[in-house]
Amino acid sequence: PIFRNARFEISIAKSGDLPPPQGAEIAFAGRSNAGKSSAINTLADHTRLAFVSKTPGRTQLINFFRLDCGAVLVDLPGYGYAKVPENIRRQWQGLLEHYLRKRENLVGLVLIMDSRHPLTPLDRQMIDWFVPGGRPIHALLTKCDKLSRNEAAATLASVRREVATIGPQISVQLFSSLKKIGMEEVEHKVAGWLCL
Ligand code: GDP
Repeated sequence: PIFRNARFEISIAKSGDLPPPQGAEIAFAGRSNAGKSSAINTLADHTRLAFVSKTPGRTQLINFFRLDCGAVLVDLPGYGYAKVPENIRRQWQGLLEHYLRKRENLVGLVLIMDSRHPLTPLDRQMIDWFVPGGRPIHALLTKCDKLSRNEAAATLASVRREVATIGPQISVQLFSSLKKIGMEEVEHKVAGWLCL
């Protein structure tokens, strides 16, 4: 359970404020409302480590949490919330792009997508920014408890087929914070990235 006991370290709002790289970073990204905060809280076994957003788009920060193993969980701002002014939207897209393209100690990206709406254009944008660095992406299809068993299997297969056309370093799984489905699979994947 590598995310257990994650401890808050710092929040930043602009790339100039990024802390000096210290330890491998695992970033969590996702569309606003995809279930990213819930996934982080479930994996960390903490009720409100990441704030489940009441007003999406209000506080758009990158939050850093230190894990027991010394690595860092990085909670990236949720994207794609419609009611955000254009200048603010551009500002966090810039922050996300900078972080995903340039952060040298970022070893992998956990991409959170609602299993009912996977691979939106902005999800593909995150993938496009990150893939050239050659590091792996692990996609969680969240809220899979809302799908029937057959729908979930079909969604998983189709998203796997789709990402295989983008590159070999993208893996995909089903996940539910509500039913605690898929926790070991993501823990195992990330532990592998960290060589634990
Ligand atoms: P974020 O904006 O990506 O951080 O999304 P949140 O974690 O705040 O979740 C958005 C909404 O989806 C909330 O109402 C959650 O209760 C709900 N939600 C999140 N994960 C799950 C899940 O696994 N199953 C179900 N049924 N609902 C979920």
